[in-house]
Amino acid sequence: MGLIDLIWNLRQQQDLADQQSSLSRTSDRAEHALRRVAELEARVNSLAVALDVALELLARHTGLSDDEFRSELTAALADNESRQWSVCPKCQRKSLASRSECLYCGETLVASPSGPPLRPD
Ligand SMILES: [Zn+2]
Repeated sequence: MGLIDLIWNLRQQQDLADQQSSLSRTSDRAEHALRRVAELEARVNSLAVALDVALELLARHTGLSDDEFRSELTAALADNESRQWSVCPKCQRKSLASRSECLYCGETLVASPSGPPLRPD
């Protein structure tokens, strides 16, 4: 084998190693993304169950029919832009500014300074 062939083979081996390394990183990212999607699906499912229970309790205690409640909810969500939000100092999640405690962790919320309303994302 001549020197040129040796250099060519070394170069090919290096290219192959680089490609395998890149493939491994891509595979790791894809697995991470799939795990994250599964976590989010589980979270959405548990929130859907909680919402169903909350709707049932509201219907029982307010006497609103399912359709009436959905209509009220749709109107309230459409008015979302005008709502004021507070950011929890502990968990950093957003709650309605009218709440005195964080909906998620129970931390006491302080009124947010005036300014444009935060978006709930
Ligand atoms: Zn919180």
